[in-house]
Amino acid sequence: MKIIAIGRNYIDHAKELNNPVPKEPIFFLMPDSALLKNNQPFFYPDFSTDIHYEVEIVIKFNKLGKNIAAKFANRYYSEIGIGIDFTARDLQQKCKEKGLPWEISKSFDGAAPISEFISLEKFSDINNINFKFELNGQLVQKGNTGDMIFKVDHLIEHVSKYMTIKIGDYLFTGTPAGVGPVKIGDRLTAYIEDEKLLEFVVK
Ligand code: ZN
Repeated sequence: MKIIAIGRNYIDHAKELNNPVPKEPIFFLMPDSALLKNNQPFFYPDFSTDIHYEVEIVIKFNKLGKNIAAKFANRYYSEIGIGIDFTARDLQQKCKEKGLPWEISKSFDGAAPISEFISLEKFSDINNINFKFELNGQLVQKGNTGDMIFKVDHLIEHVSKYMTIKIGDYLFTGTPAGVGPVKIGDRLTAYIEDEKLLEFVVK
């Protein structure tokens, strides 16, 4: 099982980090050891002093596929969840400056807390789903999947050109603006529409 994560998929977030808006999707991978499930606490790693939250809608694949056309991509998933793409911004900045891969800043153990997954039957349109994220009860990020630069089915087409999608793989779809640091003791909560699906603390 692998986690595919999209970078810079909301214009307002690309701008807040002074990144150019990409012409095609960019993605990186996280290993299964990055997953954090069942609202388990996130342990702040000692190799970073600037861990940031990024809330993201997550797609769970239920079908094997390669070279999936966007118009058929919706046959490859039936559930969505919400997750945090924790990023060691200090390490990422060094990687970017040197043109190095991002893994040490993105793919470490516990970097990908995910919620339970809910059926897409509840929603009429994958491209019109609201989500939000609260840090210690304060709203800090909100988004709508319709604001993605590259929509879910286009992301699947792009990624599956390069690698086979397997059952149980996850797709993190990018974060809207409002990312920021966490500290030990923080409580993180994330919602799809008004349903609280993820809640955990930083230890
Ligand atoms: Zn992200």
